[in-house]
Amino acid sequence: MGSGTPYFIPLNEAIEISCKRKIKVETEIISIDNSFQRTLSKSISALTNDPPFDNSAMDGFAVKYQETIDPPNKFSISKTIEAGNKFDNTIKTGEAARIMTGAPIPEGADSIIPIESCDVNSENNTVILNQESKPHFIRKKGENFLENDVLLETGTFLTPEKISLCAAMGHNKVEVFRPLKIAVISTGDELKLPGETLEKGEIYESNTFGLSGLISWLGHEPVRFSSVVDNLDELRKTLDLASKDCDVIITSGGVSMGDRDFVRKIMEDEGEIDFWRIKVRPGSPPLFGAWKNTPIFGLPGNPVSSHVVFRILCAPWLRSLTSSQHPKESQIRVKLEQDIKTVPGFITLRRVHLFDDGNDILATAKHHQGSGNIASIALGEALTLLGPEDSGKKGEYCNALIL
Ligand code: AMP
Ligand code: MG
Repeated sequence: MGSGTPYFIPLNEAIEISCKRKIKVETEIISIDNSFQRTLSKSISALTNDPPFDNSAMDGFAVKYQETIDPPNKFSISKTIEAGNKFDNTIKTGEAARIMTGAPIPEGADSIIPIESCDVNSENNTVILNQESKPHFIRKKGENFLENDVLLETGTFLTPEKISLCAAMGHNKVEVFRPLKIAVISTGDELKLPGETLEKGEIYESNTFGLSGLISWLGHEPVRFSSVVDNLDELRKTLDLASKDCDVIITSGGVSMGDRDFVRKIMEDEGEIDFWRIKVRPGSPPLFGAWKNTPIFGLPGNPVSSHVVFRILCAPWLRSLTSSQHPKESQIRVKLEQDIKTVPGFITLRRVHLFDDGNDILATAKHHQGSGNIASIALGEALTLLGPEDSGKKGEYCNALIL
């Protein structure tokens, strides 16, 4: 594929091509304590019913429903049943058992009267129920899920709620995919680390920090390399090292048409390129392929472009390796509050702010929309997903990706 190739491919085609280049992701068994943001490599079924037994949803009195008709009714308090009670409790006619939330329902009872509807006389150990009970406030065995129900499938991304569900199902360990080690390499003579003093012509290197965050967000392990100067030998050395130590390589910069776009150049001459350039703006120049059998994404150097391309191209590829849909990108329908510049045939991702006017969510581009302006994506609230046919005219509706 020559550097003069004018061909840009649609995003979905690029995702399809990239997903053909698969790598195996190893698995491991870990404690649920360490499972936050990991992805299940094996589905999980419940080891118990939930709840495991009928229990009270309220603090109150366990009674026989039939005896509560025509209130008020007086009962003798037979016992107190607390959560964790291990005895076989029963109630007889004329009895009410004081019961706490989560405590097992005694045999013979089929109803709970909340404490608020009772007058307790502790001197003679009786209670007057002022209300007819309903078959309410009993949490039935297995009403949430049943033993052997498969509740979490392979590919599930473990959020805090899902980790609690694993525990509720009785699992203290889960089988998950091992995080991939992903090299993050920036390129450019002009790049200086934040914290250092900028000399003439230099800028702060920002891409690798954000890309590392995006990699962690997907549950993988970023390995941030020192920036590489625009020099083929240095670049080759770093790519060799990265392909030896890491499972995937992500570079930023040097993939456009310029004479000093060395990532593109070295990939053309010495690597394998599956595609170069996609129909999205910003972020049209990425390439994908392999360096010595290690999959490599060459992202554009412009800060907004590198972020956007990671989210729309690298993230779907990484998710596909673990059959995961997660973490999900949330989309909403927005109405453009102003004209937005589109490129015919391309997906346009402008950084917008959102405002609910009561009828629609309105999208406005507040910040300067240059692809070099990291503030536009950092401070923006969403990315428009204007399609190839959309005009971008004020009043048009489109989907937007929540940032
Ligand atoms: P390039 O793709 O190498 O032509 O870079 C495009 C623009 O992005 C240039 O203005 C670079 O200075 C800038 N740039 C490249 N890499 C980075 C980076 N890691 N952090 C911030 N800006 C960058
Ligand atoms: Mg450059």
